[in-house]
Amino acid sequence: MYPHSFSYSADFLYDIILVMDNIFHILVFIFGTFIGSFLNVVILRYNTGKTIAKGRSRCFSCSKTLKWNHLIPVLSYVFLRGKCSYCKSKISMQYPVIEILTGLSFLFIIQKVAISPMSIFYLVVFSILLVISAYDYRHKIIPDGLVFTFIGLSFLRIVIDYFTMKGDISMDIFSGLFISLFFATLWWISDGSWMGFGDAKLALGIGWLLPFCQNVSAIMLSFFIGSIAGIFLLIFAKIVNYKGKLLHLDHEIPFAPFLILATFMTFAFNFDVIGYMTGNIISCFI
Ligand SMILES: [Zn+2]
Repeated sequence: MYPHSFSYSADFLYDIILVMDNIFHILVFIFGTFIGSFLNVVILRYNTGKTIAKGRSRCFSCSKTLKWNHLIPVLSYVFLRGKCSYCKSKISMQYPVIEILTGLSFLFIIQKVAISPMSIFYLVVFSILLVISAYDYRHKIIPDGLVFTFIGLSFLRIVIDYFTMKGDISMDIFSGLFISLFFATLWWISDGSWMGFGDAKLALGIGWLLPFCQNVSAIMLSFFIGSIAGIFLLIFAKIVNYKGKLLHLDHEIPFAPFLILATFMTFAFNFDVIGYMTGNIISCFI
């Protein structure tokens, strides 16, 4: 009867939903940055004997207790211009970087799986993976406690899939074991110079987190990203050395960050390396 007024209200409703959706995604990002702030504490205190849950945050240089307004993710770093407000010593770039990365990964995970019990599962899993990346980058080691928790959760993903979809899970289990064995072989024949044994454990978790084919695709992508990053690092070192300064290139580049980045790209963006290589004759995403 009133087609015009009807379409107007439908448009209006659509606009409201769109605005609400944007606000929701901004809130997810902000929530992610706060979790990222907590992950920073975990990264810095893990295996140091300090408790993670207790104790106020302090400046690493002057040990003064930080106020609430020094602890707002990303914004505090920007407003303090990366310096402690008491002693003016430099605050590590790790803080805002991890906070932004956590915020972005939370945003993309929620876009991929929407709010559900499984989204909480993936938020926890990728938070652990972010801590592993940063820890491996800092210390060149993957902590057992974290990687075994990750493997356990990944196996749980297979169990959940089995009970919810009743699909065949044997390929998921075997491909994960095969990928891990491949990394363990690289570790063994190179005496640990190409890969650490921690990478073989991490690969088992990745192999079980992603279903078969996607897991293989993610591993291939990690080698692509790793070699491109390696070439850039070598070029960078050449340029720096050419200018007279000698850059000591750390030959032990941690591989976990590449594995984890590739896993995230495959999971969140359906990045299908095998599909691209075969012209989508074989695709890992149905
Ligand atoms: Zn200070």
